[in-house]
Amino acid sequence: MTGGSNVQDTSSSQVRTGRNASYGAERLESLTGREREVLLLLGTGLGNRELARELKIAERTVKAHIANIVRKIGQQTRTQAAIVAALAHDTLCSDPACTRHLPRVPGPWRAPSPL
Ligand SMILES: [Zn+2]
Repeated sequence: MTGGSNVQDTSSSQVRTGRNASYGAERLESLTGREREVLLLLGTGLGNRELARELKIAERTVKAHIANIVRKIGQQTRTQAAIVAALAHDTLCSDPACTRHLPRVPGPWRAPSPL
């Protein structure tokens, strides 16, 4: 899933405009690289055991990561965190070959009129 370089994003000076992520996507920035990986996989429906195997870490480490993630992104349960992960997949995932990205709506898409 990840390549070689372990990118640590410490650029907190980034100014973001138009924060409208109602599901808390902006909080994802406070996650570490590993936590993002865990969250990304969590959003694909994997359980602790599968997560541990996938990331080659202990199951209790997975649980610890998930507990941190749930708290950091302001959710109460891992299920809620998984939903956030599914919604924010495009933000979390940096794999261009990934097949789990939300399908783009083809052609022009217009928001429904408030009328
Ligand atoms: Zn992806």
